[in-house]
Amino acid sequence: MNATSAQRSLADQVIAAIRAVVGAGPVPLHEPSFAGNERLYLQECIDSTFVSSVGKFVDRFEAELAAYTGAKHAVALVNGTAALHIALKLAGVKEGDEVLVPALSFVATANAVTYCGAIPHFVDSESLTLGMNAAKLRAYLNEHTEQRSNQCINRATGRVIRAIVPMHTFGHPVDLEGLLAIAHDFNLALLEDAAESLGSYYRNQHTGTFGLMGTLSFNGNKTITTGGGGAILTNDSALARRAKHLTTTAKLPHAWEYWHDEIGYNYRMPNLNAALGCAQLEQLPAMLDAKRAVFHRYQEAFAPLTGLRVVAEPEHCQSNYWLQTLLLDTAFAEQRDAILKATNDAGFMTRPAWTLMHELTPFKDCPRMDLAGAQSLVQRLINIPSSSRLIA
Ligand SMILES: *Cc1c(COP(=O)(O)O)cnc(C)c1O
Repeated sequence: MNATSAQRSLADQVIAAIRAVVGAGPVPLHEPSFAGNERLYLQECIDSTFVSSVGKFVDRFEAELAAYTGAKHAVALVNGTAALHIALKLAGVKEGDEVLVPALSFVATANAVTYCGAIPHFVDSESLTLGMNAAKLRAYLNEHTEQRSNQCINRATGRVIRAIVPMHTFGHPVDLEGLLAIAHDFNLALLEDAAESLGSYYRNQHTGTFGLMGTLSFNGNKTITTGGGGAILTNDSALARRAKHLTTTAKLPHAWEYWHDEIGYNYRMPNLNAALGCAQLEQLPAMLDAKRAVFHRYQEAFAPLTGLRVVAEPEHCQSNYWLQTLLLDTAFAEQRDAILKATNDAGFMTRPAWTLMHELTPFKDCPRMDLAGAQSLVQRLINIPSSSRLIA
């Protein structure tokens, strides 16, 4: 068999396996599902005239998010990027600081760091979790940083490394134990970018509740959606109050006076979006069951294939299986593009992981460790159709 027919053959096998699970195409990568009280709550919200930044659905959505995740507080915001921005700011990230973020992530993680005037410092990933490689990061920090008055100083740049922002890739929990130990030992604030991991647990505790703060996203492509939306989770009541204050233009409560005691942001989630969120949260357990069922069906369908596997939740973790993911064996990496093309041509939307952050123009000069793990992963990852309503 020559190289071309071998490529065609693996791509054809991938198409057949996807079709066996999802049926005939076209099938998008991820689409929202509105199977519950979405219309009812939106209608109620409109009838109340409270469609904007105050209203009972915002309070209810925050209370229900806190109850669901086990966080003491949830603050609902306009999107996940704004949530990251405010969480970083409240963690004390200042102009000229560095913040450790995964090179393998959606651009929002690194963007939010720059909104604070800080510099993203890129960290490598491991293939087990697709998230930050804790052992490699510890060795790197040991070699390249020193502690000065309880601050972690990057010897090469002289800047303070203030925080670390692990991300739970495609819903799979990162090695929190290893990373929390690093945060402790190197005096870093740990913030979880849990944008992709609502419904994912690390050792039976919800992701986003381990660090000082965690952030969620309810964008249209996430597990549940509010149209656009995000939230900060925290167990710290003072931080929750500060988050609410800063994101509501830092206005002091008063019946008629406008008094703002610092520069704030208009980042609050509108009631209309929260109404959608309340209905979506009711659907979440059923969606998670469906996503897990989709994963098992894919695992079965892909089991006979050589050269790739379906990414499964790490040990001691429960993944929400937000985006189903194929990981090609190293020897099959060069077939990725042929598989992407053939599946998309066949009507099954698939896509590669994000371009690594240090390859993007705005971040090309940022500090980074060796990224061999992330570089290898990015050549081998393929997301396949993942909607929760894919199978009945
Ligand atoms: C979706 C996402 C965000 C936030 O996205 P918004 O569209 O601003 O809600 C942040 N980080 C990661 C990793 C994401 O996937």
